[in-house]
Amino acid sequence: MNQEIKSLNLTELQAALKQMGQPAFRAKQVYSWLHRGVRSFDEMTDLPKALRQTLADGFLLTAPQVVRRQKSALDGTIKYLWRLHDGNCVETVLMRYHHGNTVCISSEVGCPMGCAFCASTIGGLVRKLSAGEMLDEVLFTEQDSGQEISNIVLMGIGEPLDNYETVCRFLELVNSGEGMNIGMRHISLSTCGIVPRILELAESRLQLTLSVSLHAPDDETRSKIMPVNRRWQVEELLGACRVYYEKTGRRISFEYAMIRGVNDSPEAARLLLKRLRGLPAHVNLIPLNNVEESPLKPSDRTTVLRFQKLLEDQGVACTIRRTLGSDIDASCGQLRRKYQKNDES
Ligand code: SAH
Repeated sequence: MNQEIKSLNLTELQAALKQMGQPAFRAKQVYSWLHRGVRSFDEMTDLPKALRQTLADGFLLTAPQVVRRQKSALDGTIKYLWRLHDGNCVETVLMRYHHGNTVCISSEVGCPMGCAFCASTIGGLVRKLSAGEMLDEVLFTEQDSGQEISNIVLMGIGEPLDNYETVCRFLELVNSGEGMNIGMRHISLSTCGIVPRILELAESRLQLTLSVSLHAPDDETRSKIMPVNRRWQVEELLGACRVYYEKTGRRISFEYAMIRGVNDSPEAARLLLKRLRGLPAHVNLIPLNNVEESPLKPSDRTTVLRFQKLLEDQGVACTIRRTLGSDIDASCGQLRRKYQKNDES
């Protein structure tokens, strides 16, 4: 299959066009069209027709189709289900916050990590997304919604650090001055805790926010709900987080889904405090979203508030995530999952 043109950075595109005998200024023209979300080379109206044809013959230009678009009546959150060029589907969510519009993108079709509470992993990993396909999620969400996007979170379907090099390439593309120019400080990356990749990311010293899905402070509980913990345990993971902080100076954000009777006790809060000691952190409590296939249930409100207070009393910043789009299955993987199930039946 032809190479995906949108996954190329400007230097690579320059080299490719040079090889085709094109003048040097063409690359920036093409790059700029690509990053404005054109659906075909014919939309590149300031290119000679012959060149448009050569590009169409030599490259694949990805542009996902909207399969479903659901808008929350409660808060304006929009959830997209996109069909990719090979028929696979992924989800993207657009959320409106006071600090700007944030898009939550997927990095893989499905997920190999097997977390017990997560809908995205039920069918396993189908394939990884390309850098261009991740960029498409941002471009076409902006285009379809008419809302300018200022922030990106890699918290959709998939494990970004399982697709590490491609995610780094996506970051380069979306950050580039000739493209969307979204600053690293406006980007968050969420991981279930692939330690060697966290250390590699630390070395790159990118100024993005690292979010770590911790969900339990002890190995016994964490290994039960997150198989990744059997490979890299809590101490090793938090060790990598410390290195990450030392190298980048960026405070780490810890995601903690509150699961009834599993990880929501005062003892769990106290152990969490002990483990986070000396590490500048922000804990984000997420009321567990119900996933039909899972027996795990959300903690009740009082339990969540009690947990939060225990952390805050010891000076650890702790927020409870606002549930956006709860009327439209806006938690990861649920829309794709429903679509698959309807397809199966
Ligand atoms: N693979 C990455 C990013 C995708 S999931 C990661 O693990 O961080 C984004 C966040 O949603 C993670 O913190 C994940 O653990 C959490 N999550 C998944 N299913 C959930 C559910 N049913 N309820 C609440 N949070 C969930």
